[in-house]
Amino acid sequence: MKNCPICGGNTNRESKNIELDYKGKKLIIAMLGDYCQACGESFHTVQDQKIIDQNIALAKREAESLLFPKELKRIRKKLHISQEEAAEYLGGGIRAFSKYENALVNQPRALDVIFKLLDMGKVSWDDIKSVSGVKPPLSC
Ligand SMILES: [Zn+2]
Repeated sequence: MKNCPICGGNTNRESKNIELDYKGKKLIIAMLGDYCQACGESFHTVQDQKIIDQNIALAKREAESLLFPKELKRIRKKLHISQEEAAEYLGGGIRAFSKYENALVNQPRALDVIFKLLDMGKVSWDDIKSVSGVKPPLSC
């Protein structure tokens, strides 16, 4: 147990749910941290904040009906493409899919729609490649 740097009171390590307003919807976010029993102040480590940010991104995904990181990864694996190849043809930068699949950043809706269509078999990865305008790398 640590003492509160503000009032010196005892802190408890716990997870509290807070409500966020997001586009007219209420998101419930679990916030892990040290909470002061005396003044109510909360303290979050860098690691706590990372988890909180992931929780916020996940809740927004749900509110937006976007694919969850696991589903995005499942579909990409089903297509037998790497994160790099996905980003090469769909944009977002080389680290984009790593961020989406680790719940750090939500994928844009257009990409989400394309992945849903790919999953349903309505379009193929070859279709995406051929309409993307991206020239295949010479070195393969
Ligand atoms: Zn305090």
